[in-house]
Amino acid sequence: MSEKNLFESSATYRMACQQLRDVAKVIDLEEGIESRLMLPKRSLVCAVPIRMDTGETRNFIGYRVQHSLTSGASKGGLRYAPQVDLGEVAALAMWMSWKCGIMNLPYGGAKGGIACDPVTMSTGEKERLTRRFTEEVLSIIGPRIDVMAPDMGTDDQTMAWIYDTYSMKVGYACPEIVTGKPVELGGCVGRREATGRGVVYCIREALSELNLTPHESTAVVQGFGNVGSVTCDELAKHGTKILAVGDRYGSIRNMTGIDVAALARYANADPKKSIVGFPGAEAIPDAELLTTPCTVLVPAAMERQITKDNAANLKCRILAEGANGPTTPEADAILEAAGVFIIPDVLCNAGGVTVSYFEWVQDIQQLMWSERQVNEKLRELMLAAFHRVRKLAKERNLPMRMAALALGVNKVALEKQRRGLFP
Ligand code: GLU
Repeated sequence: MSEKNLFESSATYRMACQQLRDVAKVIDLEEGIESRLMLPKRSLVCAVPIRMDTGETRNFIGYRVQHSLTSGASKGGLRYAPQVDLGEVAALAMWMSWKCGIMNLPYGGAKGGIACDPVTMSTGEKERLTRRFTEEVLSIIGPRIDVMAPDMGTDDQTMAWIYDTYSMKVGYACPEIVTGKPVELGGCVGRREATGRGVVYCIREALSELNLTPHESTAVVQGFGNVGSVTCDELAKHGTKILAVGDRYGSIRNMTGIDVAALARYANADPKKSIVGFPGAEAIPDAELLTTPCTVLVPAAMERQITKDNAANLKCRILAEGANGPTTPEADAILEAAGVFIIPDVLCNAGGVTVSYFEWVQDIQQLMWSERQVNEKLRELMLAAFHRVRKLAKERNLPMRMAALALGVNKVALEKQRRGLFP
């Protein structure tokens, strides 16, 4: 695609397109299909005006981008963060398509977002924001059209408001409109932990490929939100020492190992949920977090954190991408040359959307699973996907990222080909 489009001012969107162009060569993708996959199917940008607690009216900008509906309803999170823009949401939607493709889920990719700072907003303000946004996107969502889930800055309560608003509009309780809901409202047990658990299943497979054990391994985690905190917890449970953790307010390190349970209690008690000031570790400059020597580095925060400027300084054996898009293509090349084992985002963090799929299926069937059933099925699907990617990487001598993208993109492309172009 050569002509300029609305999304291209975003470095994250350009990065997603670059990855698609690279993998298109690997799988010999038909040009017409490549250009269709480059552009999201549809995007909605809306004003979301709400009354703040002060009585003042503020207008936020909301986005919902549906990259593909070829394989089923589109699926993906809703993000509340200050930097959210159309291009970022479009890139994240594209990555969701590949993620669902790799996991063989009957979904296309989508993502939404509202440019706001949820940390500074009251519960009432967030509720009004969420309900008004739901109203604005009502015409393009539905259990068979587009199903939202939590992402950065949103949680099960956000999903409960969307569920309620949608249900009030259609006139009946419709839990399958969102996933990641509270368990009492038809949410799936283990959904909150699913992304972090999936990350750790992948890490354990990678460790065993490198003939390392969890006990002799160490980890550094960037981000202590839903993904980062559960990843720390699961790693610690398996005997891996967590050396350093960072969040958007700062970074901390303890080379003898951080007490993860105590850190979680500390962060939970903080109004901003920050790890900064934790007495069981020392503060370090953010730039030293990613370059701390460790076996496994887990970026679990924002996209584009590992770039050509810091990639050469990383000192890890395994890079497990809990975040979406944390590594730029230039950094990828540097890490690949250095022999770092990369578990790419679209595989590594796919546990979240996988358990979202379980939740959606349970809500449609009105038949709830036990936590043991959820975790066993999650493990089975994550391991199968990991080994599908690994096998292709070995057979075709591809980096793990290219192998993962090849599987995901190919699945969507084949479906597009077989369905044909309408009219
Ligand atoms: N926001 C999560 C992701 O980036 C989960 C999406 C979902 O469960 O639909 O994968």
